[in-house]
Amino acid sequence: MISFEEYRQIILSLGTPVSTEVLPLHAADGLVNAEPVFARFAVPPFDNSAMDGFAVRAADIENLPVTLPVSTDIPAGRTDVTELEPGTAARIMTGAPLPPGADTIVQVEKTANPEKNMLSEAPDEVTIVEPVKHGANVRFSGEDIAVGEAALDAGVLLGPTQLSALASIGHGYVTAHRKPVIGVLSTGSELKKPGEDIAPGQIPDSNTTLVRLLVRAAGGKDVVLSSSSDNPADLAAVLEKAGSYLDGLITTGGVSAGAFDVVKEYLKDKNVSFYKVAMQPGKPQGSGMLTLGGREIPILCLPGNPVSVFVSMKVYGNALIANLSGRTDTDIPWQQWESAESWVTPEGRAQFMPVVAKDGKIVRATSGGAGSHLVYSLIKTRGLAYVPAEVEEVKAGDSLRVWWL
Ligand code: AMP
Ligand code: MG
Repeated sequence: MISFEEYRQIILSLGTPVSTEVLPLHAADGLVNAEPVFARFAVPPFDNSAMDGFAVRAADIENLPVTLPVSTDIPAGRTDVTELEPGTAARIMTGAPLPPGADTIVQVEKTANPEKNMLSEAPDEVTIVEPVKHGANVRFSGEDIAVGEAALDAGVLLGPTQLSALASIGHGYVTAHRKPVIGVLSTGSELKKPGEDIAPGQIPDSNTTLVRLLVRAAGGKDVVLSSSSDNPADLAAVLEKAGSYLDGLITTGGVSAGAFDVVKEYLKDKNVSFYKVAMQPGKPQGSGMLTLGGREIPILCLPGNPVSVFVSMKVYGNALIANLSGRTDTDIPWQQWESAESWVTPEGRAQFMPVVAKDGKIVRATSGGAGSHLVYSLIKTRGLAYVPAEVEEVKAGDSLRVWWL
């Protein structure tokens, strides 16, 4: 048996990041940045006002109250601002450029007659009644980032905040890895499509839906290959038809030690290795680089039990897709949570327990614990708690690592 951490490292070493494309910012949401980005503009790009008020020279407001003539009006967007004459004030709005010579913004609330001072027509003069510190309410150019500074590393997942930040530093496009295309293939002669009637001995195929959607959630593009029976000739035919456009393949079922374990039987001589991983659920696993459509692509062979599939997709499927997507941060975002319940865990195997949060602690989401066939219980699962292999019993009050989904 190998440990869950060791097996995850094997998965992270399979394959290389897929090709990149240059995209408008909004089209790169959920993709991974492929090249380091530098600031073309500073943030803020120019010294500007943080308040609606009056730009002054601090030396002119040392003795209060003081009345200064208003020499100009500076709304946001004005680009032709000239020097502020000593002994005058400029009316200025939030985000508007500070006139050269001014060093302090007096917010309108600190002037006499503030309402009158914010009418559409600027007043002829302004009386400052309350003290304002030298340099107050000025946002300085480059305070957040300077021109040419490194802004974003390659390998970072792009979302709304990253992409809008790129806009603010002068970029309209970003180079990102396209989504890896992942084939999804369920095996089992007992499987019927969702919604179809079943005879005794048959079950609905829930794994295809689970895997394809978890592929999507992990940042991949799912392509469902028609499911295969437990007959190796059938599996061979499905794989033969599989497109040469796949960047990876994930199968479910047929990897244990049973008589009809088709995936293991058919792929064990094709550069796919089968492992026993010290975890529950999800012990039997297979992976390797499979030649398909003339190309070598990474393949994950997950067990068939739906709860095992769920756990395996989270801990291994996600890692595979993250790696193919070009992500550099592939660590699991664990959080420490206290358990409200006690349960016994398997000896020598790490356990992944589906959990939900209740009153600030975690409780098990499934009636039968980590029973890997209790697929309906996945409906309540909101996270996976991790119990290390050496722990044999979780006690109420113990702190566990949890991966919220
Ligand atoms: P296997 O690893 O093929 O022996 O499958 C283990 C268990 O998972 C068996 O009870 C299967 O019926 C079940 N199973 C396999 N594939 C699926 C699937 N696609 N959807 C739901 N259950 C499945
Ligand atoms: Mg099977």
